[in-house]
Amino acid sequence: MVKKKLQSIRGIHDGLPQEVKKWRFIEDTARKVFASYAFSEVRLPILEPTELFVRSVGEKTDIVSKEMYAFEDQGGDSICLRPEGTAGAVRAYLQAGLTRSGAQRWFYMGAMFRRERPQKGRLRQFQQIGAEYFGTSGPVEDAEILGMAQTFLDTLGIEQTRLEINTLGCSSCRPDYRATLLAFLETKKEALCSTCHDRMGSNPMRVLDCKVQTCQAALPDAPEMLSHLCAPCDEHFTGLKQGLAALAVQYAVNPRIVRGLDYYNRTAFEFITDQLGAQGTVLAGGRYDGLVESLAGPATPAIGFAAGVERLAMLLPEPNDNTLDIAVVALGEAAQAYALQQAAALRAQGLSVLHCGGGSAKRQFKTADRERARFVVTIGEDEMQENMLMLKNLNSGEQQKVTLTQVFNIVG
Ligand SMILES: [Zn+2]
Ligand SMILES: [Zn+2]
Repeated sequence: MVKKKLQSIRGIHDGLPQEVKKWRFIEDTARKVFASYAFSEVRLPILEPTELFVRSVGEKTDIVSKEMYAFEDQGGDSICLRPEGTAGAVRAYLQAGLTRSGAQRWFYMGAMFRRERPQKGRLRQFQQIGAEYFGTSGPVEDAEILGMAQTFLDTLGIEQTRLEINTLGCSSCRPDYRATLLAFLETKKEALCSTCHDRMGSNPMRVLDCKVQTCQAALPDAPEMLSHLCAPCDEHFTGLKQGLAALAVQYAVNPRIVRGLDYYNRTAFEFITDQLGAQGTVLAGGRYDGLVESLAGPATPAIGFAAGVERLAMLLPEPNDNTLDIAVVALGEAAQAYALQQAAALRAQGLSVLHCGGGSAKRQFKTADRERARFVVTIGEDEMQENMLMLKNLNSGEQQKVTLTQVFNIVG
């Protein structure tokens, strides 16, 4: 019987060395930038109670109704692989009893799971980096977290993005707007797609960002939240724009940014690129002042964002993989043990070193070449006796006999 080779699950990718180099760069940059804004890293569970997302993200959303990997465990509990990070962060924040400990600034990174139709840049297991700022309601914090997101993208060297912001109002001004919007949508109903008909019953604002052409064509005159804001929401939005101006963060107001999840209010934003086709959002978030309360906590304002790591990686240049400092070539059996020691001593100086494994000199030099080492250290009987190393710069071809301690000055 022929054994069948097993494949990874559809829409779930392996992170191989070149890709992981980019992920690491993105993660390291996030840690550095977010720490400079006094955000602390948290590591939260991948498995959560299914009910957490039903109550926060919303039962009627695509994420919860169609895309969650939810199942009953052996004890009969309904659990799921987290489809996003914010709900779990809020749960952890409440569970740790931090609601009276002043503002909390958290960031996280890790795998999320959604059983979406696989397509370019949309995976079923994907990684997100997110930040959540609990316990502050002002537009100043909104501006600052947007500034942090912008700095993160800038530090990554991703320049081809634009920031679009909107306001989604609050529980006092949105119901009126919703009714006005719904009345307008009723007059356009025939032109709208069947998904939008469903949205009219659940979350009519989501009709505004429908990607279907005929829907967009029916909407240019749709009423906008912006002209239906209550005074506090209007003030908040003005404050955000002033903050962004003070930080010299470029933005455009886009009244069609509504965010897919039900728990957002007031500030909503997306960083968008044209480099990834139709699904151009690389980092998105917003304010969610009602979420903590809806998960049975005390009223706590909060704002956050998340970015897809694989999508950010698609915007980065191929990493320079010339990370090997030295390849060690040992000439003859007698030099092997000595070469092992020298390689270890060079690593102890902080250099990355590959021992080419012995065998013929030709094979070892070939290895050094393939691994794109910057330098080759050759060790033969002469070098052993003199306690020296032959060091060759593979770029310039320059070669010199040096002591172990001199190597670091030249290579490091
Ligand atoms: Zn309002
Ligand atoms: Zn539609």
